[in-house]
Amino acid sequence: MFIGVLTMSKFRVYVETIRLSTSKRFELIDITHKVEDIVRRSGIKNGMCLVFAPHATAAIVANEHERGLLQDILEAIHEHFPPEKPWKHNMIDDNAHAHVASAFIGADRVFPVLNGELVRGTWQNIFLVEMDGPRSIRQVMVMVIGEAQ
Ligand code: ZN
Repeated sequence: MFIGVLTMSKFRVYVETIRLSTSKRFELIDITHKVEDIVRRSGIKNGMCLVFAPHATAAIVANEHERGLLQDILEAIHEHFPPEKPWKHNMIDDNAHAHVASAFIGADRVFPVLNGELVRGTWQNIFLVEMDGPRSIRQVMVMVIGEAQ
């Protein structure tokens, strides 16, 4: 299904970093509204929004903010990447599960930006996935690229 075509005349790249601290070893932190505010501040009308965590032991996901589901996601991460497994990286560190989970889940997500707004499904909030917390500093880079308003 054809949605639309854009010819860009005023190209812009806008970057902001969200700084967070985490309080648990495993945690999902909802950053949806922070990302949406950045998209509005960017002054970009149509383009793409990259949400990127520059960390090897965290991830970015988009899904429903429902308390049970958030627990299910963290439980699934535990199940697939158990911290107690004798990972080789744990010979020199204690967070192999988080590195492997980050490698598979991914440290970034991309969303469309249309008419100045981030496009996401009703049940697609954006989360930083902490898997090796607590950390005093976690960052999420938000890069919005596209046609300026
Ligand atoms: Zn490590």
